[in-house]
Amino acid sequence: ESFHDVEMGEIIMGNIGLSRYTRPTPVQKYAIPIIKAKRDLMACAQTGSGKTAAFLLPVLSQIYTDGPGEALQAAKVSGQDNGKYGRRKQYPISLVLAPTRELALQIYDEARKFAYRSRVRPCVVYGGADIGQQIRDLERGCHLLVATPGRLVDMMERGKIGLDYCNYLVLDEADRMLDMGFEPQIRRIVEQDTMPAKGMRQTMMFSATFPKEIQILARDFLEEYIFLAV
Ligand code: AMP
Repeated sequence: ESFHDVEMGEIIMGNIGLSRYTRPTPVQKYAIPIIKAKRDLMACAQTGSGKTAAFLLPVLSQIYTDGPGEALQAAKVSGQDNGKYGRRKQYPISLVLAPTRELALQIYDEARKFAYRSRVRPCVVYGGADIGQQIRDLERGCHLLVATPGRLVDMMERGKIGLDYCNYLVLDEADRMLDMGFEPQIRRIVEQDTMPAKGMRQTMMFSATFPKEIQILARDFLEEYIFLAV
């Protein structure tokens, strides 16, 4: 068992080496090939299981290899959009939703580590912090966005983020997001007209538990998904 069992490209492999992760954890071992095979995924995994790298590695790898740079090019061109909200709206290729500032920052740190020396620029936005600074950071380019739901809705309303090119959507700790009352914001984000429809995008949900409410969300957001419990 090694990260070399699945081909993820030179940059990713180099960054895994730098991260000193030697062996994949169980959720990584099973989720990475599923995501690389472009399947939607519902994974039940706890904090500490290594779930962050389980979705970041294959998503970053797909961004690099899926027609080299095509999606990045689209994002770059649209990032210079002269729409009614000004020219600095960003269109991330990948969106990761997380319940809290702490988790969002952890995911962002891991994303920076694995996107190192690539053309992919990760950004993070969360509530309770200066929005002006987050907007200025977004304006420098954003291919992979990590966000808490409320702050992302705010960014969308301000015309700073468009999800028209969001090919990869991850809901991390989905059960916690629902417990915190984020379902309306999550549905607003995922079900808006401009977001690629399910089946057109690839969607991955991670949750520690799998109660009725999460099953309903999985039914609504995922297309013929694979269920993984580790
Ligand atoms: P997570 O469940 O994604 O929050 O990860 C829990 C912790 O395990 C984090 O500190 C990661 O940096 C670390 N980690 C994740 N995957 C591996 C791995 N394959 N080998 C060693 N450490 C890892």
